[in-house]
Amino acid sequence: MPLEAINIIGAGQCGTLLAIMLARQGFIVDVFERNHDPRVHDAEAGRSINLALAARGINALTHAGMINQVRPMLVPMRGRMVHQADGRSDFLPYGQASDEVIYSVTRSDLNEVLLGAADRIPNVRLHFRQQAIGYDAPDRTVHVKDLNDDSLYEVEALPLFAADGAGSIIRRSFDGSDTFGGVESLLRHGYKELTIPAAPDGSHQLRPDALHIWPRGGFMLIALPNPGGDFTLTLFLPNVGDPGFSSLTDESAARAFFDQHFADVAPLIDNLEHDVVHRPLGLLGTVRCRHWHDRGNVLLIGDAAHAVVPFHGQGMNLAFEDCVVFDHLMRTEGGDWAYLFRRFEELQLANANAIADMALENYIEMRDTVRDPKFALRKALAFELERRLPDYFIPRYSMVMFHSDIPYAAAQQRGAVQKQLIEEFTERAEHLDDVDIDAAAAAVRERLVPLADVRVDRTL
Ligand SMILES: Cc1cc2nc3c(=O)[nH]c(=O)nc-3n(C[C@H](O)[C@H](O)[C@H](O)COP(=O)(O)OP(=O)(O)OC[C@H]3O[C@@H](n4cnc5c(N)ncnc54)[C@H](O)[C@@H]3O)c2cc1C
Repeated sequence: MPLEAINIIGAGQCGTLLAIMLARQGFIVDVFERNHDPRVHDAEAGRSINLALAARGINALTHAGMINQVRPMLVPMRGRMVHQADGRSDFLPYGQASDEVIYSVTRSDLNEVLLGAADRIPNVRLHFRQQAIGYDAPDRTVHVKDLNDDSLYEVEALPLFAADGAGSIIRRSFDGSDTFGGVESLLRHGYKELTIPAAPDGSHQLRPDALHIWPRGGFMLIALPNPGGDFTLTLFLPNVGDPGFSSLTDESAARAFFDQHFADVAPLIDNLEHDVVHRPLGLLGTVRCRHWHDRGNVLLIGDAAHAVVPFHGQGMNLAFEDCVVFDHLMRTEGGDWAYLFRRFEELQLANANAIADMALENYIEMRDTVRDPKFALRKALAFELERRLPDYFIPRYSMVMFHSDIPYAAAQQRGAVQKQLIEEFTERAEHLDDVDIDAAAAAVRERLVPLADVRVDRTL
């Protein structure tokens, strides 16, 4: 019997991992990617250089049998190093168990490992420099341009998986119809990336096992370690205004801004003035849809379905989780494409909306709330409640980052109850000793159902 074929648009993280998973289920998978093969040409400029990989992403890479290839590329980050404006810095651990760490990974290295793995599977065919230019729903065809010679051809939705990222042409081809109901909301803040090089002996110039944050209220700078001893910094700032990228258009303004707000780290940054002025400005936004599928023909997946702002470090983790959810669904429920696409949407849409909200909230936490003296006390109480009641209470950040079996929507709902409870019990306290922890624990049992009731099992 001939193998069933499917098409994927986009060989980013989601399209490539999905291709690997579907090929392992026996499908012939054709992947159309507009860019060059990054293993041969330099990777796309203007995207973030490194990413935080957490439990959901690790679970997906494990599920696909790839984690051993990826592990050597990971730099563990055990907590946030918060650099205050007065020069003080505090290390706040992300979790309390030794394995509760997140990992910095270089985007291009990860993509290349994924592409290499896909390429080694005989029934995956990767087609680079092939750009989808539109989707014709009545004919179920994608129009594709071969960028090598500008010729045009059509690809059938056999079905079609649209993994073509936040600006998905497949999703936008449905604009004006009710099929997806996609809404793209651009944040008024953007980002630029800078570099702290390795020290002459190759070591990191800042503590390497931390994600560094310089919170400054309306804006912030962050730094993630790279395996080669360097750090990638990201400056998040309003696009327009003062402070804002529109005010940093000449090199002296850039230097003065860093000397004023980030004096401790400015001397470590390579080509500071040049990079602040001349590096491309990255835009950030959220994509929300009412639906992700056009009957059994097209499924939006990854950022094409649900781009989120990067402040929880979850966009890629969510895109990888999508692949696991879909693979698991096919293996455990089966059914035709229309059924599978509908079920996928039922399982993941609320989760994507939840992490989209939490990612926006986390921007405020990272750039502002971490400066609040009560922040550390609230974290300490949350950790204490987790120690006492591990079956009921896990801090929201930990549910999102370390527990791939707790859906994002459940983390959001429980997080809201937990936040209120923690605020109540720390309202008149300055130290953990001032908190009535027995009463707080009793309130947890009263207000939350056991975690076992919300966990999902996607092991096969
Ligand atoms: C500054 C920043 C920092 C981030 N940090 C993190 C982080 O720490 N942790 C995390 O989990 N996530 C992070 N993210 C989010 C993460 O980058 C995305 O969620 C993830 O890359 C989505 O993968 P994807 O495959 O769905 O989309 P993409 O990676 O965008 O891949 C889409 C692919 O489709 C191709 N394509 C697009 N249009 C076409 C077309 N018309 N025809 C053919 N091919 C096409 C593109 O070239 C690309 O290869 C960050 C994002 C940004 C912007």
